[in-house]
Amino acid sequence: MDVVKTQICSEVDSLAPNMYGISEFLKANPETAYQEYKACDYLSRILKEKGFVVEKGVGQVETAFLGTPDIDQTSRPTVAFLAEYDALPKIGHGCGHNLIAAASLGAAIALKNVLKIDSGGLVVVGTPAEEGGGGKVRLAEAGVFDDIDLAMMFHPGSINIAGKGMLGRIKFKIEFFGRTAHASGSPDKGINALDAMVATYSSINAIRQHLRPDGRIHGIITHGGDAPNIIPDYAAGLFYVRAGSRSYRDEIFERVTNCARGAALAIGAEYNIEIDPPKLDPMKRNSVLEATITANLEALGITPDPDDGRRGSSDIGNLSHYLPSMHPVLAIVDSDIPGHSVDFCEATTSDRGRQTLLNAAKMLAMTAYDYLTSVEMREQVREDFKRSE
Ligand SMILES: [Zn+2]
Ligand SMILES: [Zn+2]
Repeated sequence: MDVVKTQICSEVDSLAPNMYGISEFLKANPETAYQEYKACDYLSRILKEKGFVVEKGVGQVETAFLGTPDIDQTSRPTVAFLAEYDALPKIGHGCGHNLIAAASLGAAIALKNVLKIDSGGLVVVGTPAEEGGGGKVRLAEAGVFDDIDLAMMFHPGSINIAGKGMLGRIKFKIEFFGRTAHASGSPDKGINALDAMVATYSSINAIRQHLRPDGRIHGIITHGGDAPNIIPDYAAGLFYVRAGSRSYRDEIFERVTNCARGAALAIGAEYNIEIDPPKLDPMKRNSVLEATITANLEALGITPDPDDGRRGSSDIGNLSHYLPSMHPVLAIVDSDIPGHSVDFCEATTSDRGRQTLLNAAKMLAMTAYDYLTSVEMREQVREDFKRSE
């Protein structure tokens, strides 16, 4: 490993107590989307102690922040280390965002301590509400990433990999409006909203067989009536569609809309479909960044695993269409433990979780260092980014 990278790694090792502290504090104080006030305060305090100027509430999002080194590092290029810190309802940090925040701060502080000022700039962006809130989309739309060239983070998981595909997603509600009537005495006077919902659900099941492998539709019925002897005048459900491209995502959504429209027509009910924004975009991957991450993982003694093909969605997908972005995954559990579980939350502070945290911070800082010090790499990253979706 080159001298500077060795220095970066020992800086990260010396920051281990701070990083474990962040991860444990967040785990003990889980806060859900846009409620991350304690997390925002805690992370801001650590950054200030380590020589950063912190601005809270950037992009008109109260629990977002921007941390900038208090030395003159405003020159381009600038890399952003993204800190996620929102938890899940009921199961706390079952997605391991406590480790994401800890790794990104550790990497930024280590790099700041090692970097020559004229090598370029770095910032830490606190990005709230990844789980369902689309915090990064709001920050990007507000211009927070306008002067940034590369967005970096890692996510804990059950494999080691430089990058994975992510699906675009639309989250929406379907409602049907009918008419109540006595279910036995005067059923001919009623319009059954539940029947329209069940017909929609069945039509969705029918089209699912004919989707491409990257297409997903899943949902639940949240309201199906009030009493068995009343024809339901209202039924509602929540659904997601997902796909590997924005156009296919939108096409599947259109087909689900047709399922609802057809059911409404058949039953004689009215329907309404309402999208819960933002729409999430699929991840725009960057092969140059992924090759650099792989090389740095190997230098740390980590052999990347084959892609397991499992796909979710994240607001970094949207960000990856604004600027080159990376989202490698590093293992803290074996594949029998799923994300979004209590066991996964526990694993974030296990010995393996701690080891992965240090490796993640090293990998992030090493990759940022490669990017900031190589004109050639930056050009290649830009070229790769220019290709369409
Ligand atoms: Zn999650
Ligand atoms: Zn997550």
